[in-house]
Amino acid sequence: MPTARCEVCGGDLVAIELTVDGRDLVMSSCSICDTRTWRSDGDAIELDGVIADLSSAPRRYKRSLSN
Ligand SMILES: [Zn+2]
Repeated sequence: MPTARCEVCGGDLVAIELTVDGRDLVMSSCSICDTRTWRSDGDAIELDGVIADLSSAPRRYKRSLSN
């Protein structure tokens, strides 16, 4: 896998893999300007959608625990 480069400053991107609701997400964060890019299954996705998914996940988890 080639080293990803920041689209803004050309710096190295650090990839962090997360799993949200069974979906594999990759957050690429620039070590220089802190620009972040989210990808799901190789496709770039909107950060707002990721935040919505992350904030709703704990509620679903709690609900399943209380049943
Ligand atoms: Zn950058």
